[in-house]
Amino acid sequence: MLVTKIGTNTSSPPALHQSVQYLKGVGPRRSEIYGKLGIHTIRDMLFYFPRDYKDRSRVQKISEARIGSEITIFGRVLGVQTRTARSRKNILEVFVGDGTGSIAATWFNQPFLAKKFHVGNRVLLHGKVGAYKYLQVLSPEYEIIQDEEMNVKDGGILPVYPLTEHMSQGHFRKIMKDAVCHFAGAVDEILPTEIIRKNQLLSLRDAIANIHFPETPELLKQARFRLVYDELFTLEVAMALRKRGIQAETGISFKIGANVDAHIRKLIPFPLTNAQERVIREITEDMRGSKPMNRLLQGDVGSGKTVVAMYAILAAIANGYQTALMAPTEILAKQHFQTIQKYLLHSHVRTHVLIGDTNLRQRKDTLDRIKTGQVDLVVGTHALIEETVQFHRLGLVVIDEQHKFGVVQRLNLKKKGGAPDVLIMTATPIPRTLSLTLFGDLDFSLLDEMPPGRSPVKTLWITKEKELGSYRFIHDEIVKGRQVFIVYPLVEESESFDLKAAVTEAKRLQSEVFPSHRVGLLHGQMKSSDKDKVMADFKEKKYDILVSTVIIEVGIDIPNATVMVIVHAERFGLSQLHQLRGRIGRGSEQSYCLLFGNPTSSVSNERLKIMAMTSDGFKIAEMDFRLRGPGEFFGTRQHGLPELRISDLIKDFPILKKARSDAFELVSKDPQLTMETHIRIRERVLETFKDRLELMNI
Ligand code: ADP
Ligand code: MG
Repeated sequence: MLVTKIGTNTSSPPALHQSVQYLKGVGPRRSEIYGKLGIHTIRDMLFYFPRDYKDRSRVQKISEARIGSEITIFGRVLGVQTRTARSRKNILEVFVGDGTGSIAATWFNQPFLAKKFHVGNRVLLHGKVGAYKYLQVLSPEYEIIQDEEMNVKDGGILPVYPLTEHMSQGHFRKIMKDAVCHFAGAVDEILPTEIIRKNQLLSLRDAIANIHFPETPELLKQARFRLVYDELFTLEVAMALRKRGIQAETGISFKIGANVDAHIRKLIPFPLTNAQERVIREITEDMRGSKPMNRLLQGDVGSGKTVVAMYAILAAIANGYQTALMAPTEILAKQHFQTIQKYLLHSHVRTHVLIGDTNLRQRKDTLDRIKTGQVDLVVGTHALIEETVQFHRLGLVVIDEQHKFGVVQRLNLKKKGGAPDVLIMTATPIPRTLSLTLFGDLDFSLLDEMPPGRSPVKTLWITKEKELGSYRFIHDEIVKGRQVFIVYPLVEESESFDLKAAVTEAKRLQSEVFPSHRVGLLHGQMKSSDKDKVMADFKEKKYDILVSTVIIEVGIDIPNATVMVIVHAERFGLSQLHQLRGRIGRGSEQSYCLLFGNPTSSVSNERLKIMAMTSDGFKIAEMDFRLRGPGEFFGTRQHGLPELRISDLIKDFPILKKARSDAFELVSKDPQLTMETHIRIRERVLETFKDRLELMNI
């Protein structure tokens, strides 16, 4: 419909791959600037979507301006003047009229703005109405509308693009208009007709035209829906292909019968929770099957993932296979190793640890044993995925990622065996919206029940004036025989400074605040053996207080520690705070988390409020995700997925679900995407995911 109006250019499809320089008004210099935005071709241009819109249909008349309320107006510049107030403030006034009246747009101490406005310019203003000797709109958002075409009084919706400083919206808009007029018609449909019909999607051409220059708010909505659908559909097709690729491999069919089960259970010193039982069933089901397991086990800190992993590990070993357990840090690798060794005291399982600081001779020896099959379980850090590690017969890989994810690492390790089963454990509760996209190729298990006898941690937000009082409280807890963590932030950018702060504070706490208690210190730059010693000493109650940088966040298990103070809590992210807090509340005594924090931004303020309010990991993750967005939530570099250009994984969850089920259905019908109607999708998926995901079989 629309496309016919704006003209078509179907005769030469390759036109879209031409440089943007082909567009009127884009020369070599401008094309270089565009290049920085990722716009190289005309197609890139068309898929460079607005970040916002100015809806001129909501423009009000100046005669409607009410002092104290906000207003959006559209008019012509009648005059520009600057003056100096008695307070010596520089005042810039731009008088604007729209036929119903006039108003002064007023800025203070920004004289340079004067250059931007010229009599006769058309401007769009938005701001709060005030009054001096005449009506004013104070420090308004403004936009000078240069584009003649946009000035037709049709009440259109204006796109606002994410541009860099020295680019003007008006000019970019003009070029975009040109691009849309001449080339939107050349954009080829990529979706099969059934999908378009079923979801009542706008055609891709109309969607492109309307996302840039919407005819009506309704068409804008439909255009957005269509483009979000496209983006998520492409992503989910990739996921479906990946999942299929994994399933097409032949893995190991482990035999796990009553005998093996009974043997393993003998080694577990407590009755399992219902959740643990359920998850173990899910895992053994996978392991028995002929397709390689590819499962993500989610469970909040302390939910008891280790013993579940151990079950799977022992089942694999019972079948004559080797297993690997990979942890995110050396401390955690060692702790896993110790925990598991304790469980395995009365078994014949041969367990070794392999980390960065293992000495050379020992390391070579361990590597030899792994290679010749004399090791059943090897526990380590990413050192495990180094080339030199060769397994004799690797059957199961357990990856404890805590809250770090690395799709790529996963694959590297997997290559070490034929097609070993893979179990990934994470303490980060992943919002459903994300797990579907980011980990769409995995199966999920959830430990949603804590082992018995835990009381939830009480979390208090302590402001500066209450800090002294809380020292008293800490003292009382220590007198009762409990132990205390005091955590300091340590961030890369200010590492040496932060470190000094922690060290100085440890001294001060010892000498001035808690002279009768024993204060230990643990930080990232200590030698590995010293760290171990401090941890071990703390565990054996040789210290009452452990002052530490963030290093304790993963894995440490000390049930007698019931108080955690987090200093400068405002500097930690939500999931980090939650992880830290998970180090306490592990015994039967009431535990307390004290957040020392004086937030300077509304976001950090929000974080502390959330922490004090809930201990539900899923709620926290969801809020964290909302506060930070998906990129930062996982660290952009790690998740291995392209940026989403238009979709919002939270808002667009309903579209995601549709796109996902359509995508999986399509791939199950045409696993190689070779059908005529699927060729375009195939191209698009390969283009988008080139090296990012291993797309097997296509
Ligand atoms: P996670 O790795 O999920 O954070 P862990 O596996 O370290 O949790 O378990 C936390 C603590 O709970 C450990 O001390 C562990 O021995 C204990 N635990 C695990 N499962 C149970 C259970 N079913 N009953 C009692 N204690 C359990
Ligand atoms: Mg653990």
